[in-house]
Amino acid sequence: MARKTAYLTIDDAPSRDFAQKADYLISRGIPAVWFCAGRSLEKNSDIMADAIRKGFVVGNHSYGHPQFSDLTVEQAYDQIRRTDEILDRIYAMSGRKRPGRFFRFPYGDKGGSTHSDFFKACSLEGRKHKEAIQSSLRELGYTQPRFADVTYPYLRKAGMFDDADWFWSYDVHEWSITKTEPTHGVGSLEKIFERMDETAPEEGRGLNTSGSAEIVLMHDHAATTEYFAPIVDRLLAKGLDFRLPEF
Ligand SMILES: [Zn+2]
Repeated sequence: MARKTAYLTIDDAPSRDFAQKADYLISRGIPAVWFCAGRSLEKNSDIMADAIRKGFVVGNHSYGHPQFSDLTVEQAYDQIRRTDEILDRIYAMSGRKRPGRFFRFPYGDKGGSTHSDFFKACSLEGRKHKEAIQSSLRELGYTQPRFADVTYPYLRKAGMFDDADWFWSYDVHEWSITKTEPTHGVGSLEKIFERMDETAPEEGRGLNTSGSAEIVLMHDHAATTEYFAPIVDRLLAKGLDFRLPEF
């Protein structure tokens, strides 16, 4: 089976089961970037400082996890800056140098007024709003790695790597298991595994193709803890080699 490089990103940490998930990744030698909302970081500074000491990277996922399309540019700036300061404090506590300033938008909503419809063309107003938020990110020192080995044309065309925030190429979709009406019918572990076997690289399902590395998106939600290890094991079995990008 073809091996491919993968970067594991986990949003919404830390849940009450964070330590269990972190220990599991350590046991498999898998590094990860955890994108955390500031309101959770404030309550869990010790836990996240400890995770940093263990080699994990912690990034900014806003303060209160809003849809950025619903915010003014000032409110968006405040969401980013407030959590940025919390992260500075946590890195200081950890005694480790902050490797960079990394941001992921809640719901993938970059503020273009299209909410989570990532690839829908924004209105002119939406575009301006999105670009103003990108300027705020840059002003605060936020960057993403070059991800030169993530080569999906649809992501390149959408400008995902020209932005200051981190996007993803493979959404594991485990967040929809616990919904009453699972999105795209992904309502069980079996469906998640079936989805991994599909080949639709232009629609975010390219695990079985060669040529591009993957930025994998998962979540640290207490409701899906039981699926965490089986999903990671399945990704390993599919030939993914997890590492951190070059910062
Ligand atoms: Zn989130």
